[in-house]
Amino acid sequence: MTGRIFEIREFTLHDGPGIRTTVFLKGCPLRCPWCHNPEGLSSEIQTMTRADGSTAVCGEDWESGALADELLRNADIMAQSGGGVTFSGGEPLAQATFLCEVADILRAAGVSCAIETSGHADAPDYRAAISRMDFVYQDIKHHDPGEFRRICGGDLALVLDNYAWLRSSGVPFAVRVPCIPGVNDSPADRAALLRLVGPGVTVEFLPYHPGGESKRRMLGGRQGPM
Ligand code: SF4
Repeated sequence: MTGRIFEIREFTLHDGPGIRTTVFLKGCPLRCPWCHNPEGLSSEIQTMTRADGSTAVCGEDWESGALADELLRNADIMAQSGGGVTFSGGEPLAQATFLCEVADILRAAGVSCAIETSGHADAPDYRAAISRMDFVYQDIKHHDPGEFRRICGGDLALVLDNYAWLRSSGVPFAVRVPCIPGVNDSPADRAALLRLVGPGVTVEFLPYHPGGESKRRMLGGRQGPM
């Protein structure tokens, strides 16, 4: 089947072990105000306009086999370094069936797969995709359901139900928490988050940096339809 992506980034070092290729899938059900990849929010193909007036198309449709072939070009380098392919976005689970097809081809070729996800997905999609992964970076952005709804526009119960399944799945994972000043970075917020995550889990608190602002401007300030 066909899926829509907005970037393939080769030789990445921070999206999992070893040297990796990270593929960014378009579309996300959430609207975190601090999002670093606003061009990944809308599932539509968009035009970004740079300050000098030049434009770039954001979003490209790929057939799953063709995308896997492209990602496999660096398979030797990835294997030698203990790396692989990481699915990111946007929210990669918004295109779960496509993601599963690509992952199946990669894994059949011996390539390790990882995912960065908000966990905001229907349980069948979450379980199907995560069970194909060798490692999961699971975001938990806030401990309070009301604040999560107000700030990100999502249902924390959906995330936590998926997280509970992840913990029991045996798939290796780490929890990532973007620390946003005034949103979730107080000592009390961190303590509540750690209680929610549970004992014995690797938790990475990620420092805030306003990386998405210039891209938001290039999109005309729009974040696009959900
Ligand atoms: S879940 Fe990720 S991609 Fe979606 S809005 Fe939040 S930060 Fe951006």
